[in-house]
Amino acid sequence: SRFRHDYLEVRGLRVVFDGFVAVDGVDLTVTQGDLRFLIGPNGAGKTTIVDAITGLTRCTGSVQFGGTELVGRPSHTIVRAGVGRTFQTASVFDELTVVQNLDIAAGSGRGPLTMLRRRSGLPDEVAAALETIGLTALADAPAGVLAHGQKQWLEIGMLLVQDARLLLLDEPVAGMSQAEREQTGQLLQRIGEQRTVVVVEHDMEFLRSFATSVTVLHQGRVLSEGTVAEVQADPKVVEVYLGR
Ligand code: ADP
Repeated sequence: SRFRHDYLEVRGLRVVFDGFVAVDGVDLTVTQGDLRFLIGPNGAGKTTIVDAITGLTRCTGSVQFGGTELVGRPSHTIVRAGVGRTFQTASVFDELTVVQNLDIAAGSGRGPLTMLRRRSGLPDEVAAALETIGLTALADAPAGVLAHGQKQWLEIGMLLVQDARLLLLDEPVAGMSQAEREQTGQLLQRIGEQRTVVVVEHDMEFLRSFATSVTVLHQGRVLSEGTVAEVQADPKVVEVYLGR
């Protein structure tokens, strides 16, 4: 597969805000075809790590993706290296249809003719993304009418057509119904088979259905790492989650 060499290797990542150490020497290795959850209590440093990887926050240490060093590079260069992220609040264009949103993300939404193109003329990657995110039936609906969960899926679809090979998803199931959570779980499994996926999550319940590894953060450091069952049985994790 063309994704074969895509692995994320974070070494000694450190982020300091006005003397406050938010991320304190984090190491993290995620291989291609792996889905990794990043969990931990509020303030543990999860979002700051994603910000640092994507060039939104100054950091020191090393972040390599597919062998390319990302620390010190501007965000647009990091995007071009195949790194994509979502935010807790989905940022889609409400006035545009689902397909038009995907088209723009694919870089093919270059004018009114492209916008009016019939569905049969969809580029392969847009049609494939629609299928993957389960929004084929809503392809021509304005994104503004989508339910909260569907908007999150659209945002993930936009990363797929952008050809992001490392996806960093910040609490994708926050605010979702149980049914939407289950569908999102399946979507993440599917994407994780192909690409490198890091999901920030704080809901332990959501993780239970995944046979994948979890990195637990606490006060800017890696507290524990292993399967869901392993980290849940780790006394250090129990203390941090219950001792609040
Ligand atoms: P999490 O995502 O695990 O809840 P964050 O990464 O958002 O945690 O935050 C980690 C710590 O860094 C928190 O104590 C937070 O208050 C602090 N922090 C985050 N962003 C900033 C910032 N821009 N300036 C100062 N402190 C920040």
